[in-house]
Amino acid sequence: MKKDYSILKKSDVPAFFASLANEMQLIGPKQLFSGDVTFDVIQSHKDIYWDYGHVVYPPKRFLLPHFEDMFRYTCDQEIKIEPTCNPQPQAIVGIRSCDVAAIRFQENFFSYPIVDPYYKEHLNNTVLFNLVCNTPPKKECFCICCDSGPWLESGFDVQLTDLGDRFLYEVGSDKGEKATEPRAYMLLPATPADIEARRQIELQADSRFQTVSYVAKAINFISADEVPAKIWEDLGSTCFRCGACTNLCPVCTCFTVDDREESDGTFTRCRSWDSCQYAGFTREASGHNPRPTFGSRVARRFYHKTSYQYIIRDGRHGCVGCGRCITACLTKLGLPDVVKRIRREMHEFLPPKEKAAEV
Ligand code: SF4
Ligand code: SF4
Repeated sequence: MKKDYSILKKSDVPAFFASLANEMQLIGPKQLFSGDVTFDVIQSHKDIYWDYGHVVYPPKRFLLPHFEDMFRYTCDQEIKIEPTCNPQPQAIVGIRSCDVAAIRFQENFFSYPIVDPYYKEHLNNTVLFNLVCNTPPKKECFCICCDSGPWLESGFDVQLTDLGDRFLYEVGSDKGEKATEPRAYMLLPATPADIEARRQIELQADSRFQTVSYVAKAINFISADEVPAKIWEDLGSTCFRCGACTNLCPVCTCFTVDDREESDGTFTRCRSWDSCQYAGFTREASGHNPRPTFGSRVARRFYHKTSYQYIIRDGRHGCVGCGRCITACLTKLGLPDVVKRIRREMHEFLPPKEKAAEV
């Protein structure tokens, strides 16, 4: 759709989001008593903490809840199924570009080859108000290496860029247009100076990143299954299976399914987050586990994130450069560390000539 730039003055922001809150629940960055910022339900527009840098806990739980009832069923004379998932309209306000890109990845993941109706329902009821990062990124961030920030070309419903006393306001989808339309009278036309101010922010962004991830070589090695098991087992030997990396990753989608018996004799089928780093994730009913070692599970995680097979299927590699796995992992198994080690160790131990000789 045609890009449409407007200006939302900060003095009009309270009225704008108070009006939006009459139509849907607002989720946004909220500062806790501890000083930490997390995404939560916003009761008043005053609670939206616009000046945050980055949150450790991604807002993915508002589309893929930790625990979710999917449907209730009875199996007496006949099987009766009653849906229980009923998402209400919501706007995620102030979400960062990397997290929007992760949601688009998950949307794709949950659409193919079978559409996941629960994720789809949540997403259909959600409007994403992306907030461009124009403050220095956290030292772990590397979204610029993953084409997922600090601003987005597409994927957002509305994108806001902080220009001081005003936001540059971009509508990116029909959903964004629908959410804007009742409040459009509060928007002013953007001037060429506003567009130029945004461009200057884009130009400055490149030099601000402290973390880079040269993932291309690792993609080649991992896709071709050339990384020796020894490297994976060395990496895996430091993993203590806390699951923090996958739980905090805005892209990760692993879940498990349980049936809960209710007091009235019905059953509820529910799902909850799981982690490919847990031994039980792939353990089969027979007791056999196709990924029995730490190394095989770490390999699987990075295969899923970086191999061509998944890039072709999902349209991009499974990392948006949010840096959370760097923050979370006490043993340096964040994505940039792992791809760096693969790049270096493959060069050290398997130079191209030697590889050719081995074939
Ligand atoms: S955060 Fe690190 S230690 Fe924890 S499961 Fe992930 S890789 Fe293993
Ligand atoms: S792999 Fe790490 S850096 Fe990449 S999206 Fe997941 S948590 Fe963020």
